[in-house]
Amino acid sequence: MPSIAFNNIVKKFGALTVIENLNLSIGDGEFLVLLGPSGCGKTTLLNLLAGLLEIDDGEILIDERDVSYLDPKDRGLAMVFQSYALYPTKTVRGNMNFGLSSRGISREEADKRIAWAARLLQIEHLLDRKPSQLSGGQRQRVAIGRALVKQYGVCLFDEPLSNLDAKLRNEMRMEIKKLHNQLKNTVVYVTHDQVEAMTMATKIAVMNKGVIQQFGTPDEIYNEPANLFVADFVGSPAMNLLDCTLRRDGGDLVAVDEKDGIRINLGEYKWKAKAAEGKPVKIGFRAEELLIEERHDAGNTVRFDCPVEYFEKSGPDAFAFLTMSGKSIAVRIDGRDANRYRSQPALPVYLPLTKLNVFDAPTGQRL
Ligand code: ATP
Repeated sequence: MPSIAFNNIVKKFGALTVIENLNLSIGDGEFLVLLGPSGCGKTTLLNLLAGLLEIDDGEILIDERDVSYLDPKDRGLAMVFQSYALYPTKTVRGNMNFGLSSRGISREEADKRIAWAARLLQIEHLLDRKPSQLSGGQRQRVAIGRALVKQYGVCLFDEPLSNLDAKLRNEMRMEIKKLHNQLKNTVVYVTHDQVEAMTMATKIAVMNKGVIQQFGTPDEIYNEPANLFVADFVGSPAMNLLDCTLRRDGGDLVAVDEKDGIRINLGEYKWKAKAAEGKPVKIGFRAEELLIEERHDAGNTVRFDCPVEYFEKSGPDAFAFLTMSGKSIAVRIDGRDANRYRSQPALPVYLPLTKLNVFDAPTGQRL
């Protein structure tokens, strides 16, 4: 399956530079998710790859072939749009067939491919219907089928699930992932939904304002965010952050917030070389890393007693929102414990010292 490279890509709309000197390599068979807030340039980047927009500078390679100025139909890519973009007057079969006959594919071969894709997507019984006779989820399957029958090595998805309700979105998410596991094609998938990104991607590129903030596996992005933007954007709730200043205490490095009596001994940490006395930092930790009750297997912890703000319960999971150092922090708790904790004005919180993220406050970069 093909690999893709964006080299020094620049894209402007008039005076507005939407993408500035972007570099990104996507390995063959990868499921790459472009993740970022609305307006960050994800769709623009996808459209540049598809050839629906033209780059202002740089080059786009597919399997080392420069496709920067090729016509979309000559790039060997299939695309699935958010709006499905089905032809209303054609049947499902007609929609899937569209584009095959114009490429000189024989009737017999086209029928074979349509039957194959329809079986894979479980839409065989819908082949003679028109799009208006289908549900949203069925239309999306047809749009995916139309991409699959082209049998290109690269498939692009632009927010394909955003028009579906939550249940259908979950189902289609699994279907698309299963298809990728089966076909092992190279996928570039645009979304602002981090759950889609975390569950489907083999690699994620987090974008903001036309710049890639971090490129890595879902685990890397979640556990070791490269900067404060990623720490805040990825994860629900977002990573907890405390404002502190670094101090040296003998051989150890300590993050302190003197006005609130916060003192977190960072010990001999890997970022020590980059951390200077007096540096303002943000100490980050995820809601699920915090413990309300001390556990011996948690390693070194530091305890804080935090006033309770409120609880948020959703089925078996719950979050306690507590005040620490003047900020609201989220702690994941077992939903069954919520009522027991609710009656307490303050809760002890144990922060495992090995689960900390330290960011330089002025630049937002991870130390
Ligand atoms: P969303 O998730 O909302 O679709 P996105 O991350 O895909 O957002 P783009 O659609 O790529 O963002 O848009 C990036 C920026 O470029 C936005 O500021 C948008 O207003 C601008 N933009 C996009 N297309 C054009 C255009 N044809 N002319 C002028 N500006 C454009």
